[in-house]
Amino acid sequence: MGTWYQVKVVTDRRPSSAQQSALGERILNTLDEIDRSMSTYREDSLVSRFNRAEPATEIELDAATAQVVALALEISEQTGGAFDVTVGPLVRAWGFGPDPTQGPPSADQLGELRVRVGWRHLELEGKGLSKRVAGLEIDLSAIAKGFAVDSVLAAVTGFELGETQLLGAMVEVGGEVRATGLNREGRAWRIAIESPSVGSRRIHRVVELADLAIATSGDYRNFYEVEGRRYSHIIDPETAEPVTHRTASVSVIHPECAAADAYATALLVMGAEHGLDWARARNLPVSFLVYNDEGGVDELATAAMAERLGIEVDQNGRPLGRAATPAA
Ligand code: ADP
Ligand code: MG
Repeated sequence: MGTWYQVKVVTDRRPSSAQQSALGERILNTLDEIDRSMSTYREDSLVSRFNRAEPATEIELDAATAQVVALALEISEQTGGAFDVTVGPLVRAWGFGPDPTQGPPSADQLGELRVRVGWRHLELEGKGLSKRVAGLEIDLSAIAKGFAVDSVLAAVTGFELGETQLLGAMVEVGGEVRATGLNREGRAWRIAIESPSVGSRRIHRVVELADLAIATSGDYRNFYEVEGRRYSHIIDPETAEPVTHRTASVSVIHPECAAADAYATALLVMGAEHGLDWARARNLPVSFLVYNDEGGVDELATAAMAERLGIEVDQNGRPLGRAATPAA
């Protein structure tokens, strides 16, 4: 997947070295299987095979990939198309694919590309996936990391440890996190939400995760600037252009990391104003960090997220009794 991962496992006694290496192997196999099926960087992956396929040709997916595509389509529907796994050709055209020298594309190029983008052109029947238009591709980058987190956590909690008892586990893949049980201190896992500052890493807030996942989507690491305009790697499928509003990052808490991951991307497309309304209507714990005119960032959160963060927010989602945090 071209990203880092971290797994923490807490047990009541030290597992044998045989158990430790067997568990390590299981984690690696889990990640490798996902990569072999879902990577767009591997020509031999299932997804790459689908992307090369002709319209109306059904490609039989494996169970995991079918599950991810089904969830992706469900979230596309829920988010009114803000989340769309068919934006790959646009991502490349704007220079966020393997060739960073590409982009920005001309209006003509964009017009051509838009014809082969759109989740409604996908058809999933059971595990059979087909496309209705030529050149349509899927790109699971915005959901696969979350799915990998869920899968690794399931592999860890389902691992047979004999006498040894599992007390808790925490899995992180490329910044998306899910935790269950307790940490080494016997407390709920505490996960940091980073401050959106390019180049440095600072903690903005800390959230306790009891059997929950948190995913963050942000434009502050993966972007480029041309003539003062900032292009992020998240594409608004409606305009076919990278999102340009002032959202620095969005964090979402959900029981499943795959869903949290996809929602975070969708909410970045929606922007804070519409995104907060959308999340409130679903009682989803969501927080936005938005660049302000003073060169800092403002925080906005739904009541469901404020509760998790142990803060209070006004009707507009602004925290009460706490000044905006400056960006470094
Ligand atoms: P990150 O990879 O930085 O954690 P995301 O999870 O939001 O961020 O995934 C971003 C990737 O998702 C992009 O690099 C691109 O491949 C893909 N993508 C971009 N826009 C969308 C979109 N609107 N819907 C689904 N996937 C998208
Ligand atoms: Mg995402």
